[in-house]
Amino acid sequence: MLAPVVAALHKIPENQARAMFREEFENVRANLSKLGLCKRPHEFIKQGEGLRAKHRCTKCGGEVDALYADWYNQGLEDGKQ
Ligand SMILES: [Zn+2]
Repeated sequence: MLAPVVAALHKIPENQARAMFREEFENVRANLSKLGLCKRPHEFIKQGEGLRAKHRCTKCGGEVDALYADWYNQGLEDGKQ
């Protein structure tokens, strides 16, 4: 379990670290749900700057990282041939 390690590193209570993991898990699950229910194809638009900038779909609001968005868009182009 990572919660004790994260709690020690950040000097926070272990239950707070567990709550952070739960919240992050729920965020990931909600994002995957949005992406899965999208009226495709996704239309990813870069949000912000830098390598870690997320790409958000204008249709569903789901977010992915740059690598996923680039491969998704490349797949769409390949599918047109
Ligand atoms: Zn979408």
